[in-house]
Amino acid sequence: MLTAMCGSCPATERWALDGTHTVSMKGRDRNKPCWCDSGLKYKKCHLERELQERPSIWNARKDVQGLQRFKTCLHPEAGPSACSGPIVRAHTVRRAADLSVIARKGHVYQTSADLGDLHLNKGRLLPKLVGINEASTFFGFCSKHDSATFAPLEATALVPTDEQALLLTYRPLCLELYAKERQLESLEIARQGDKGRSLEEQFGLQEYVLLMRLGMETSLRDLRRHKSRFDADLLARDFAEARYVAVELDVPPDLMCSGFVQPHYTFDGERIQDLSDLKTELQVMSFSLASTAKGGVAVFAWRSDSDAASSELVDSLLRLEVVDIPHALVRYATSEFENTYYRPDWWDGLQQTDKDALVDRLHHGVGPDIALNPSYLKDDGRRLVRWNVINVSQKRC
Ligand SMILES: [Zn+2]
Ligand SMILES: [Zn+2]
Repeated sequence: MLTAMCGSCPATERWALDGTHTVSMKGRDRNKPCWCDSGLKYKKCHLERELQERPSIWNARKDVQGLQRFKTCLHPEAGPSACSGPIVRAHTVRRAADLSVIARKGHVYQTSADLGDLHLNKGRLLPKLVGINEASTFFGFCSKHDSATFAPLEATALVPTDEQALLLTYRPLCLELYAKERQLESLEIARQGDKGRSLEEQFGLQEYVLLMRLGMETSLRDLRRHKSRFDADLLARDFAEARYVAVELDVPPDLMCSGFVQPHYTFDGERIQDLSDLKTELQVMSFSLASTAKGGVAVFAWRSDSDAASSELVDSLLRLEVVDIPHALVRYATSEFENTYYRPDWWDGLQQTDKDALVDRLHHGVGPDIALNPSYLKDDGRRLVRWNVINVSQKRC
């Protein structure tokens, strides 16, 4: 690991590493940029870091939570003269139409990726009760732009119309962009996690941070490009490029979801896109589970420039027997999306073996080193919901 880092990172090539994993640093070398690529001088960064006090996980958690309170408006016309009202807790899953339908005493289950919870749960992502006022929210829009932009989703029954389909993707896209920006900032907190550690551990952590940063910067580049196309459509009120497949259900789903994804593998286990290819812009789509006047709906929505990847995924779903589709939707929502909320009475009523299997799904693709099982969306035999498909509507061109 040490050798790979020193050979691949331009910043580290400036440093001579000897066979005992110590860094040569004499005289004026202390004023050179640090090997970790932080941009700081070595003497201000990793000099004698192994002797420093180890940081507490609880302080790191507080710092990360602080980042998540960052307030901004992501509307394309955002600015002092166009924005109005405070930056609000913008819901990505509809509060009244969806969350309140599955809530028990105003609460739903959500997977908690909070550092403190992960520590207490020994690294397991476990569902935790959250109030529906907070669930699925982020500080990404001012009051005026949140209401005006998403009124077609909040104030009108979900069909979806072309405009609703576009917004169903735009909203989780904005959440993803906001979350990725905060994650990138949190890497600066993670960088400090090697204080009081051996030099080898320092190299290991800084290599991890470097790889994470590379992936996040590439994702952000793609997300900004995709968002700019959606922004242009919204400003022009031109929804012609919206595409969707809506699987209508006879009941409101026990899981509500607003997710954004780069389609990766089909429901047959065939690879759609290589997510490790940092040069190619990846195609993207959204997935929503929501309630409707008739019951519920699962909507796969995308823009025409993501036709190929999205169609490949959706076609593999539609090839399944109709009775198997609801269970495939559960596998999809739990494997791919953190922004999924569970009806407490449903989750609590599951067998422990089913809960364990779902928790395993929640861990799918977490972290940069997790080897993916390409078959993760294939039928696992579990039948955890009683939903029936009553219709499939689509707009594919
Ligand atoms: Zn450093
Ligand atoms: Zn605004």
